[in-house]
Amino acid sequence: MKTKVRNIKFIAIHCTGTPVNQSIESIKEYWKKTLGWAAPGYHWIIKSGGERVQLIPEEMISNGVKGYNHEIINVAYIGGLVTKDHYADTRTYNQKLSMIILLRELKGRYPQAIIKGHYQFPDVHKACPCFDALSEYNDL
Ligand SMILES: [Zn+2]
Repeated sequence: MKTKVRNIKFIAIHCTGTPVNQSIESIKEYWKKTLGWAAPGYHWIIKSGGERVQLIPEEMISNGVKGYNHEIINVAYIGGLVTKDHYADTRTYNQKLSMIILLRELKGRYPQAIIKGHYQFPDVHKACPCFDALSEYNDL
């Protein structure tokens, strides 16, 4: 089936809001069974060791930022949760490196896209991704 080309305006950065070592399978299970989502929350997810995994083709829509997903590529690092209800930037060195490599590739495909964190979209009241992605990736 042919998919329509999307006009990507943003690359949204997330944390999974889980411990750093949470399995991708359990995250997908949560989206499907608890939240009832048909599509995954992110296009790309980066494990603590830096390995990246694609969960859905970029032509398709994922579920990262309510109201904006049609014009977004969603990217997440696994982590963000320190202890119960306490969120922080838990990115590992390898996750940071892997994220920059991935974002450079994405900017190559979507040069107009603005990279920003989930909380930097309007009317979002959460800490995700727990760091200032807009300024950190300003030069990419
Ligand atoms: Zn998020």
